Amino acid sequence: MSTIPRRKFIQLSAVAAAGCLVQAGRQAHAEDMPKLSEDDPMAKGMKYVHDASKVDPASRINPAPEQNCANCALIQGEEGDEWRPCQIFPGKLVNANGWCSVWAPKA
Ligand code: SF4
Repeated sequence: MSTIPRRKFIQLSAVAAAGCLVQAGRQAHAEDMPKLSEDDPMAKGMKYVHDASKVDPASRINPAPEQNCANCALIQGEEGDEWRPCQIFPGKLVNANGWCSVWAPKA
């Protein structure tokens, strides 16, 4: 028989089950979101591109040398994912290597 007290076992089971539900919901949500198109009117307005290396640094307002979606303060989702949600483009995924004119450094 287990050495874990019954009450502790029930508490741990509830926490584990809640964690599974939250994790499954988060993944399903991100996977269901479409990728932002560079032709999207809002993307064009913000000068969004999938590849930040194609942007002339001289055309950027912020002078920070390393700028891409992965190191932007407005990126969301999981570190390391290629496509991630962004606060500027709700309901769409941006490329971690992308960039737009709203780029801001992480604090
Ligand atoms: Fe990328 Fe940041 Fe622009 Fe969102 S706000 S598209 S994360 S550079």
